[in-house]
Amino acid sequence: MKVLVAQKMGFCFGVEHAISTAEKLLTEHNQVYCLGHLIHNRQVVQRLAEKGLRVVDSLEEIGNQDQIKPTVLIRSHGCRPEVLQEVKDRGLELVDATCVLVKRAQNLVDKLHNQGYQVIVVGDPDHPEIQGVVGYAPDVIVIDGPEAMSKLPESGKLAIISQTTHSIENFGKIVGLIATKGFDELKVVNTICRETSRRQASAIELCHQVDVMFVLGSHHSANTGELAELCRRNGVETYHLQDWSEFKTEFVNGKTTAGITAGASTPNWVIKPFIENLEKL
Ligand code: SF4
Repeated sequence: MKVLVAQKMGFCFGVEHAISTAEKLLTEHNQVYCLGHLIHNRQVVQRLAEKGLRVVDSLEEIGNQDQIKPTVLIRSHGCRPEVLQEVKDRGLELVDATCVLVKRAQNLVDKLHNQGYQVIVVGDPDHPEIQGVVGYAPDVIVIDGPEAMSKLPESGKLAIISQTTHSIENFGKIVGLIATKGFDELKVVNTICRETSRRQASAIELCHQVDVMFVLGSHHSANTGELAELCRRNGVETYHLQDWSEFKTEFVNGKTTAGITAGASTPNWVIKPFIENLEKL
């Protein structure tokens, strides 16, 4: 099988930073807690758990320790500002690995609200990044598709930003739809991360050269899911797989060239064996 790989794929700098921060903390501290999974990749999360990283859903789960001051690691997706405050109030040590680009989106929400805009975020309301970002101003509206347009106010001035991992295509579509509603003022800030848009551009380029695409990454990773959808929209048969264990030979029946790309939270040690196994077919 001829295998072509995307020029840009796999770990982004935000994910690399979060993992290296966690690994460093685990060598220096006895009790390191992460609020939610550090990144959206099951294998990486499992490896870190084996090294001692404890995942909790809330700070209550950490409890009060007399002797040791536990460390709380904030993942690359970030969190609401009151969570950061609560970590400090509880006397826990805070290590914030929120990606700088997510931080930029959080700060923008605050700034745009203070400038009098109704802030709109285009993205998935259930994604942890969005659940954190909306905490930076009151009444932020999240729009995930045309069906959510009814959440918009009747009038006023709007500022629109996006989830960092959203597809630029969909962001443009939603902004276009909002523009038809006749608001007094619209301010659009593109907060889609370049790492995401470069991966999307590389995937599209590959779609024109292959018979089948494999998009590697956890099934709950938003940017991996977006990549897979993008490849399908570009007319290529596409499989979103976590790793080689999910591969079936029927996926490549009658095909001669396969393309591979991977989400920003997919480690190299998942991508490399997948390429090698596919090339052997
Ligand atoms: S995908 Fe972009 S925004 Fe998200 S963690 Fe990576 S670099 Fe940061």
